[in-house]
Amino acid sequence: MDVKENNIEKVKCLIIGSGPAGYTAGIYASRANLNPVVYEGLQPGGQLTTTTEIDNFPGYPEGISGPVMMGELKKQAERFGCDCRWGIVTNVDFEQRPYKVTVDGKTEIEAESVIIATGATAKYLGLESEEKFKGSGVSACATCDGFFYRGKDVAVVGGGDTACEEASYLAGLCNKVYLVVRKDHLRASKAMQERVFKTENIEILFEHNTKELTGDMGVEGCTLIKKAGTPEEEEVKIAIDGFFLAIGHHPNSDVFSKYVKTDDQGYILTEAGTPKTNVDGVFACGDVQDPVYRQAITSAASGCQAAMEAERYLAELN
Ligand code: NDP
Repeated sequence: MDVKENNIEKVKCLIIGSGPAGYTAGIYASRANLNPVVYEGLQPGGQLTTTTEIDNFPGYPEGISGPVMMGELKKQAERFGCDCRWGIVTNVDFEQRPYKVTVDGKTEIEAESVIIATGATAKYLGLESEEKFKGSGVSACATCDGFFYRGKDVAVVGGGDTACEEASYLAGLCNKVYLVVRKDHLRASKAMQERVFKTENIEILFEHNTKELTGDMGVEGCTLIKKAGTPEEEEVKIAIDGFFLAIGHHPNSDVFSKYVKTDDQGYILTEAGTPKTNVDGVFACGDVQDPVYRQAITSAASGCQAAMEAERYLAELN
């Protein structure tokens, strides 16, 4: 049981974030009797709740959908007593132990150890017109919003695995999908590239950059610049109803960065081969500290490591 004193809840192990890293940390920490509390954050279940099929997580020979897998991970953590709650961490004070964490701007918690598993958030291009049409034609999640574009024409920006996956998913719903790629090649894995190349209603526009989105109440078109900065530079207009971003992610570390060291992109720095941050008793796992692998399986594994390190830390402390 968490001890409550002066209305401030005391928690042995506070886990912030709820993707594969957060829930796996929850499973391990609850089985180690740390009575963990998980704050699930803005997107309970994390990024995988916006993915369709996960075909590369060991143990699922037929694949599994992202939301189903996250639901099962949460259930598994709760089975061992993990307390999963809605709430967003809005402030932390890691100056001295116990660490102070504020949830939703009002609830104060004192934590003996903290596991940061806040993941990463989709990036946008930063265009004014993109901001204008957010929610009315611009989206960073095909799985969430693709349904609204059935039978219509859409564009996906990006050349990585996410862009190819989103383009393939949308191709099954939409009339036509433009894949807007700034380089002359895709960065995605070969298997994913093959899938895109084989899909008849996907047209890849290599060496195209987005200039602006046009429309009145919603997106109606997009102006692209082909081969920018070369003698062949040309303005290209496409008619679309939906514009999907798939250009990478920003690690959700801002709230911790006053205390926890990050790299220049904001990824939390951990001691090589461990989830230890520069603050004793504060651990980081999953995409918020991993600019390289960013897979569900590597996230889950690092969540396990974080919980084991939290257990060791608390054992030494007491
Ligand atoms: P990536 O960083 O791999 O790719 C981002 C893409 O967006 C690149 O093609 C990049 O172009 C492009 N891009 C970035 N900024 C801009 C911009 N301002 N304008 C236009 N294009 C831009 O991100 P992903 O989200 O695709 O993938 C992240 C990780 O997750 C990868 O390791 C990937 O393998 C993995 N993943 C795996 C999946 C699976 O296995 N099922 C599914 C999805 C992701 P450029 O190439 O020119 O830099």
